[in-house]
Amino acid sequence: MNNDDLGNRIARTVIDEFNNLNIKSGKPTTRSNGVIEWTVLASIVALMNGEIIPITLATGVKVLPNKVRNYSNGLMVHDMHAEILSLRLFNLFLLEEVQKSDSKLVKKNNDIFQLRNDIKLALFVTEPPCGDASMTYLSNNLESNDPWESNRSESTFNRGRNNFDQLGVVRTKPGRSDSLISYSKSCSDKLCLKQLTGICNAITSTLFDPIFLNFLVVKDVTEQDFYRCFIDRFPTDHQLELLKYDFDLFEYGKSNIKEPSPLSLLYICPSKTVQVLNNGVKNGSFIRNKPPKPGGESIICNQSLAKNLPLPIDARTYEEFKRSNVERELLKAKGQTILQNWKHSDVDDFII
Ligand SMILES: [Zn+2]
Repeated sequence: MNNDDLGNRIARTVIDEFNNLNIKSGKPTTRSNGVIEWTVLASIVALMNGEIIPITLATGVKVLPNKVRNYSNGLMVHDMHAEILSLRLFNLFLLEEVQKSDSKLVKKNNDIFQLRNDIKLALFVTEPPCGDASMTYLSNNLESNDPWESNRSESTFNRGRNNFDQLGVVRTKPGRSDSLISYSKSCSDKLCLKQLTGICNAITSTLFDPIFLNFLVVKDVTEQDFYRCFIDRFPTDHQLELLKYDFDLFEYGKSNIKEPSPLSLLYICPSKTVQVLNNGVKNGSFIRNKPPKPGGESIICNQSLAKNLPLPIDARTYEEFKRSNVERELLKAKGQTILQNWKHSDVDDFII
């Protein structure tokens, strides 16, 4: 079977899984005023013995402003783009798997956990990842209602779609120019870096050997954008491979007559773990300018993930814990140096 077929098979499997989800809320809806909502769907799938096994499903297009980090206390999920949520969910899935004695996907080798050797991982997304990989796609879709700016002198980093003529550069997530500032990097840039660091986060990387994505499954990315974004500017030993699919069965896709859904649906397929987020917290638990109501934090916020680590944490704060993994920090710094102009968000720390 060639890889074109594989892209289509993965797309079909993920979209079927999403459509068959029997849940009360979380999918885009038509509002009472007639406005139809759109979203992006992303999924990490495991490929094993010819089988396609969806692990995560996540939707979302929002990002919280940088200032939320002053009070979030590790309880809020700042980046709710579907790809990034899928990666966070995959880390929670890994924490679920290490508790099992009969995991199909994870094995223990001496003291370290590993993904089984015969598994490959693909990230499926219904839109090209925002940032550098989507530049041609965006310029072909000028009906986009997000404003474009060009102001080269403003800064050394590119906010959203500023300086649209510059290719191969780090960008923050696109947003309306009147929205509060976020320094969250585009999904293209974050995914690019994961070709070096792997997709385990600060927490799971203390348990697992590095795990890498093998494939990116998308429809509208040009080969030129893909190679510039992921390969030319960032040579590593674990390069993503592009798998295209060529049909559209996702009924909630982007369109200029629709509005973005404020909600994110999180779903771990093997365990049927589900949660709906709004403003970075459990839907219904948001309080303006404050952390969520008690118990209203997400299952994938940093505090929740840290609590799920089945090891004692020898650090006073989350930042201290993160920085104690020197090897991982050095890899991240190396990748950020290669990509250049990596503007950091403020720290969101908490006491462990
Ligand atoms: Zn994105």
